[in-house]
Amino acid sequence: MFIDKYISGAEPVRGKILLVDDQVVNIKILHQLLQDDYDIYMARDGNQAIEMCKKVNPDLVLLDIEMPILNGFDVCAHLKNDPDTQEVAVIFVSGHFDEDKEVRGFQLGAVDFIHKPINPVITKARIKNQIRLKLNTDLLRTIALIDGLTGVANRRQFEQVLPVSWSQCAREKQPLTIILLDIDFFKHFNDTYGHTEGDVCLRLVAQKINDTVNRPYDLVARFGGEEFICILPNTDLIGGTYVAQQIVDSIVSLKIPHINSSISAFVTISAGVSSVVPEYDMSSTTLIEEADKQLYIAKDRGRNRVLGSQIQATLNE
Ligand SMILES: [Mg+2]
Repeated sequence: MFIDKYISGAEPVRGKILLVDDQVVNIKILHQLLQDDYDIYMARDGNQAIEMCKKVNPDLVLLDIEMPILNGFDVCAHLKNDPDTQEVAVIFVSGHFDEDKEVRGFQLGAVDFIHKPINPVITKARIKNQIRLKLNTDLLRTIALIDGLTGVANRRQFEQVLPVSWSQCAREKQPLTIILLDIDFFKHFNDTYGHTEGDVCLRLVAQKINDTVNRPYDLVARFGGEEFICILPNTDLIGGTYVAQQIVDSIVSLKIPHINSSISAFVTISAGVSSVVPEYDMSSTTLIEEADKQLYIAKDRGRNRVLGSQIQATLNE
């Protein structure tokens, strides 16, 4: 979840366009027109179009209206009803101007209309505008969920993901573990080395945690100032404690000098772990509170260590 690819100097993101038309000649014309600027995918009928959308997640679909079996309207309705594909921009391509059809298309969620035979200049301009809009929207959505300083998820993303992981684990009767982490004596670090070095330290620590916690459904987020939090679905207390210990060890191995730490010559981190097999009627706040309690004990017992506890789902009954 790092945002390097969005930082200036990185390669510009190339838009992905899916061309859908039952006539090969139409696809050929558009392909020729657009291939230099975009990654192009093609589909010959409605079902194939839906399948391709799920597979390649295009930014834009140029969708022919008049097709046998599943027409363009049906395909658009399908794409807009599926959470996996609803963000894709749809431009209808129609054989002739028909106001009623345009109205229907916009009502279904299309962003524009193009008429055949296509005018290359107008078509290119319209597509360029829509692609730019789509990529900007994607970027804003991403930035809104990323911590700008460290590049890991921010608190907002954590708050969105936790309920999802919670319900998923409740449904599957699987354990859910979280790790709350806090850099030891970070205030002393900032006082000693300054806030710029403090920021560098936060970035290095975040990156290290992110490297350690790397399964697809895990999440690492910045929880607050020098606090980070990990969500580990399908992970029990033993597994979570193991990961937390790996994080604690990896931070020491970074060897970031900290002359004003009272426990080490280097920056260290403490971790509180809590685990539960969630029930729907329990609040996930309990899990965070317990991790916080464990983190407090870890600090109290000398820092640079992991403490964890298991929450019984029957606790509140
Ligand atoms: Mg057609």
